[in-house]
Amino acid sequence: MSGGALTSPKGSLLMHVQKKNGSSGGSPKHSQRKQKRKGVTGLNNLGNTCYINAVLQCLSSTSPLVEYFFSWQFENLIARDHKTFVNAFAKLVTDLWFGEAQCVSPKSFLCALCTVHPPFGKQSQQDAQELLIYILDALYEDLADTINNRKSSEMVQGAIIRHTRRNASNTPITRLFQGVLGQTTICMECGRRSHKDEMFTVLSLPIPSGNEASLMQCLQSFFQQVMLTWTDRIFCSYCKTKEDAAVEVQINKPPKILILHLKRFEYQGRARRKLQTNVIFPLVNLDMSPFVTLHNVQRPVYHLYSVVNHSGGLECGHYTAYCKHPGTKEWNAYDDARHFRITEDDVQSPLAYILFYTSQEFRLPNKTSSSTF
Ligand SMILES: [Zn+2]
Repeated sequence: MSGGALTSPKGSLLMHVQKKNGSSGGSPKHSQRKQKRKGVTGLNNLGNTCYINAVLQCLSSTSPLVEYFFSWQFENLIARDHKTFVNAFAKLVTDLWFGEAQCVSPKSFLCALCTVHPPFGKQSQQDAQELLIYILDALYEDLADTINNRKSSEMVQGAIIRHTRRNASNTPITRLFQGVLGQTTICMECGRRSHKDEMFTVLSLPIPSGNEASLMQCLQSFFQQVMLTWTDRIFCSYCKTKEDAAVEVQINKPPKILILHLKRFEYQGRARRKLQTNVIFPLVNLDMSPFVTLHNVQRPVYHLYSVVNHSGGLECGHYTAYCKHPGTKEWNAYDDARHFRITEDDVQSPLAYILFYTSQEFRLPNKTSSSTF
């Protein structure tokens, strides 16, 4: 994609798909006249909110996450502790999945988002990756708080200290999205190794220079050994001095859902620029074995189910999403209020910005709760 060709970023998603198909197929107006398909719903743009809409469509396609919010467990939790943010999110995904409208407004969700983090309320476009991390964190906080409140009130009689560390494994955010990176630092002088674990929900991958690169190259670049020398040297507790060191990173615990962020925005000196590199990524069978520690018995293989796209440059960019329907297994493009079916071939594009992979097959989310929200 040449950056200059996109005079109208809003139409660029459609242009991209039509150019590839060689036809005008999949007109959004045409598809919206058709009967509403379950779980295929547009989101109104409330003024530069395309980045929010694109991220929300990808999360709404994350079937096991959505299903949690339709469950009696969630209903019970929320009945006890009213949490604005998680409630607004649950209400929105319910509307996206079970509402009658072809398109819904994310206004209530946006209000909840602004209450907890005001910068997202400014009518200016923000970075979709930052928003995604923020939403996952905020959902985690609300859910961990609610789960912990129940635990601490159960513990009061036993006079156990209430400031216990949060039991992170109990939230669906932790169970689905959280992986563990193991970092090994090797002192070049004495050869001793030290290990440190770090939780992650999103891996931000550097993009090699050039017009085209493979996702595997981006991953190799992320996981390659880094040498720390000169001013970056580390203090070795055995040598008792600052020494050169090698740092290696591997995945100690692969997450069920692997989110890969392609670092398209980078600084060159003070100037920020966008990399338009076409990153070729697999739709199925992304094998993460080379980057996972050996003690993991199961082969970590992932299949793509959603993509956040960014078209245009830095100033006039536009966000859209491609999502695989967990029931029909068909791909749909979401461009704010518009949505239309696309082919698997359309999914691979130079616009890809955040890739959502799953290690387990999704099924259509069921509503198991006894009442509506
Ligand atoms: Zn040493």
